[in-house]
Amino acid sequence: MKVTDHINHTKKTLFSFEILPPLRGHDIKDIFYTLDPLMEFNPPFIDVTYHRAEFVYIETENGFLQRKSISKRPGTVGICSAIMNKYGVDAVPHIICGGFNKQMTENALIDLNFLGIDNVLVLRGDPLKYEHVFCPKDNGHKYAANLVKQVQNLNSGIYLYKHCDKQQQYSGSLFDFCIGVAGYPEKHFEAPNMERDLFFLKKKIEYGASYIVTQMFFDNRKYFSFVKKCRQVGISVPIIPGIKPISSKTQLNILPSKFYINIPNELVIEIEKAKNQTTVVQIGVDWAIQQSKELKNAGVKLIHYYTMDKPENIYQIVQAIY
Ligand code: FAD
Repeated sequence: MKVTDHINHTKKTLFSFEILPPLRGHDIKDIFYTLDPLMEFNPPFIDVTYHRAEFVYIETENGFLQRKSISKRPGTVGICSAIMNKYGVDAVPHIICGGFNKQMTENALIDLNFLGIDNVLVLRGDPLKYEHVFCPKDNGHKYAANLVKQVQNLNSGIYLYKHCDKQQQYSGSLFDFCIGVAGYPEKHFEAPNMERDLFFLKKKIEYGASYIVTQMFFDNRKYFSFVKKCRQVGISVPIIPGIKPISSKTQLNILPSKFYINIPNELVIEIEKAKNQTTVVQIGVDWAIQQSKELKNAGVKLIHYYTMDKPENIYQIVQAIY
């Protein structure tokens, strides 16, 4: 079922969440460990992130270092399939521009269609660690909007190469992906200003996206103001708020540097004062509960949680809210 249908048909606020594929060498049971307790609350769908291959240096037998490209968290599509089989809920794979050319993307979308996946969250991906700016693969997409266009083309039966279009017409099995995209209540870090960021966000909707999931935020005013600005520029699709409970003191610095978000001073001071890790986790949970309650009371139909594969704190939040 499409994410937008879940949202349109619900009478109460729903919750969804995002998981990361386990690190290479780990077991799918790690994922079930995260999911099992949360399934009690009937999430309508679960997002699975995609992680681009990174360069690492591996020591060879003769002591030299060899540069290798390795996907540290492979398995997004397999995990989506496992989730749908085991729990019977929709899985939403993230698909990215980074590392893919258009042909690879088309092949991946065909796989997803064959697996019965109804939704995709379309993203550009971040620049690699050594890149100053994002570099697309040869014949790949530079911006998420172009990838949205490619998915939407397939939804209309248009493949990259003309001769396939006819087959599509005869088989009658059109793609019908519901497309989600990312939005940034505190602005994407590369955008020169919010107006410009919203201009390009609107392009993603015009090219075929049907919903937006936001970057994490810790101050609901940022979300409400973002929604208002989106509506002012004519973006009318659902805007799903993304919530992440803080779970360690180090995240006070890691989250802003990695995700370009602000953490309200009140929360920072409370966490800095905490005497132990258990208290830090509890403060993060309580803050996320307050955020969720306010969003729910404001009529938000679905709240999305970033689990970072740690179900315990999300369980507490969801138990208090749903
Ligand atoms: P875009 O929409 O392409 O925007 C990127 C920047 O380019 C923005 O500053 C935008 O304003 C600007 N821009 C857009 N179009 C144009 C144009 N035509 N000309 C000039 N400027 C333009 N990353 C992963 O690798 N894997 C994941 O699974 C993943 N999941 C995510 C889930 C969510 C909910 C969010 C919010 C982010 C996720 N990310 C993920 C991170 C994301 O890939 C990065 O934030 C990335 O830097 C931007 O992706 P985007 O899709 O927003 O890019």
